[in-house]
Amino acid sequence: MTRIIHRREFLRETAVLGLGLTAFPALKVLAEFESSLPNTHEVDRRWYRTFDGTHTQCAVCPLNCVLESGQTCFCRTRRNHDGKLLSHAYENPCVISIDPIEKLPLHHCLPSQNTLSLAVGGCNLRCLYCQNWRQSQAMPQTLKNFELRASDVPAKASSKQCQIIAYTYTEPVAFFEYMTDIAALAARNRVRNVCASAMFINPDPLRELCKQIDAFAVALKGFDEKFYDRVLGSRLAPVLKAIETLRAEKKWFEIVTLIIPTYNDDLDKIREMCRWIARTVGPDTPIHFGRFVPEHKLKDLPRTPVPTLERCHQIACEEGLRYVYIFNVAPHEANNTYCHACRKTVIKRLGFKVLENHLSEGRCGFCRTAIPGVWV
Ligand code: SF4
Repeated sequence: MTRIIHRREFLRETAVLGLGLTAFPALKVLAEFESSLPNTHEVDRRWYRTFDGTHTQCAVCPLNCVLESGQTCFCRTRRNHDGKLLSHAYENPCVISIDPIEKLPLHHCLPSQNTLSLAVGGCNLRCLYCQNWRQSQAMPQTLKNFELRASDVPAKASSKQCQIIAYTYTEPVAFFEYMTDIAALAARNRVRNVCASAMFINPDPLRELCKQIDAFAVALKGFDEKFYDRVLGSRLAPVLKAIETLRAEKKWFEIVTLIIPTYNDDLDKIREMCRWIARTVGPDTPIHFGRFVPEHKLKDLPRTPVPTLERCHQIACEEGLRYVYIFNVAPHEANNTYCHACRKTVIKRLGFKVLENHLSEGRCGFCRTAIPGVWV
């Protein structure tokens, strides 16, 4: 996903696991954190249960972490305190920034508007190439955080001329409670919500999230269970199920795939993935192929060659996908949105910057063909 490019001071980088994570850890409990913590918030009772007196089981993501009292979960944000599941992610954002919505990336949603972007430490994946690992692989309480009450976020966004709040950079599933509370308040104040996520989430909390979020950038990181297991410490099947749930809920979403040289750049797999997208969720689903920048535990790899991204782009088009993009490479013709009917350039971009917009009421300004997306 998109790396943080604004300057931030990172006080501590101590929570990165030194486990050489090449497979999904058998134990879901990774740490205990004993100090008294500010800004804890009980997880909604719909999303966890208490059993045997003091054990808890979380229902937010497919890991369904079972914790004894005092234990912290896999995503590092929730802790069992005497049978009560508390989130340390609540109102503890480590990133607050203003970004173009194109950076998520979302190219079919309110073009050229800015988002107030929020992130909290923690993640329920372990991607070896994480672009924001200093935040995602840390407990929230070990980072330098900002004071930002959920109830203050919509007004904060408006004061910065942002009519959209983005939950991004780290994994919003790990700060689900903070995100959903903000999003509900924002929706009441006519501020939009967008979410960039790997979508490793259970169907019920996802359906709840869909009530508040206007658009999702979904990181479908590959199309191979072995890749999900060995490189991401996760599983593919629940992600595909989540994508189908988004479609069933009629939510707007765009798919994002970072292409990692030698890891997920098998063109047959790319074709299989594009075919699945076209057939299962439809050819109007935009897909963004991203250029990998060496980071975290895969620093020895090169950047993705541009011809590889172009080949992925070509395959997606051959499989019938109508809106195919390349990101992290600019300028490039695949930064633009083209009308699938007349092939004219409807939105011209330079990277994340919109240079020209020929959309009119959600239609191509040249031939009036409807272009799918969230435009108003
Ligand atoms: S969201 Fe976090 S606490 Fe809940 S099941 Fe997933 S990893 Fe465990």
